[in-house]
Amino acid sequence: MRRRIIDFHTHLGDIFHGNQNITFKAPRVYPPFPDPFEALSRDRYCRPLIAEDQAAQNVLIDAGQKRVWALGGLASTSQMLTGCGVDFAVSLPVLPNTSFEEALAASKLEPRLIPFTSADFTLPTAQMQEKLIQDIRLGARGLKLHPILQNVPLTDPRTFAAVEVFGQRGMPITAHCGINDYYKPDSPYRHLAPKEYGELSHMLSLIARYPDYILIPAHAGGDCGWEYESLAEAIHKHGWRNVYTDTSFKNAAVMRELATLFGADRLLFASDYPFDGVARSIEECEKAFVDQPDVADMVFCQNAARILRLDD
Ligand SMILES: [Zn+2]
Repeated sequence: MRRRIIDFHTHLGDIFHGNQNITFKAPRVYPPFPDPFEALSRDRYCRPLIAEDQAAQNVLIDAGQKRVWALGGLASTSQMLTGCGVDFAVSLPVLPNTSFEEALAASKLEPRLIPFTSADFTLPTAQMQEKLIQDIRLGARGLKLHPILQNVPLTDPRTFAAVEVFGQRGMPITAHCGINDYYKPDSPYRHLAPKEYGELSHMLSLIARYPDYILIPAHAGGDCGWEYESLAEAIHKHGWRNVYTDTSFKNAAVMRELATLFGADRLLFASDYPFDGVARSIEECEKAFVDQPDVADMVFCQNAARILRLDD
């Protein structure tokens, strides 16, 4: 039988502050550029996604932006879904740069996209919540939080207010985890994206506050190379039963470990497209569970279908 795949972590459009509104435009074409994302994928995620010094970090930041402009539009995304045999992809907007409306419109043109929404923290809290409820009515299947790019920590009461809208409805909430610099030192946006907001401890506080909600620390807690063990330790220590995680930027060996540490029913296949080549992530996930077809099905598809209520 053909493999069914749901990618739980993709981005459409330009999620960065210099937003160039690219979703519905033709992809940009670039001459070859240094691309640490590509190199990491080629090397099968054998190292963390971190740069050794500022010069390397600048290269990583430039590559991330170019990948968005080249691959992050709807046309490229559709092509990727077909090329990689992905059945559905969760599309994660990040305000103030990309919105639910963009993801929703794209999902009408490309029904394989499953739109999530993003909290508009520029609104007063009650209005922000009302807007999220309206988004759910219109088709939002969950909430994406990006504490760094949104400049609102996961421990902020505004975050709690947004999270409660989804948690109370049993809907999934995924949050970026990991201490990442998205802007170069001379960027005017740098002060708007404090990387320390990606600290795993913030996510752990959020889970402790809402242990019954479906919370998904993305990238298994981060991509600096140590986070998933700490996350798993906290989950076991506190007996949290509802924490899921995604497999983005992880190789087969780590995916197997994640299934053991978090439970095979709590792991979601994910790529973080356009920052990663989806084909390689699929390959690694196939390899991870080659001798456990039931687990492969759960990770590739069933776990996501359950929390997204795709069969309802
Ligand atoms: Zn992401």
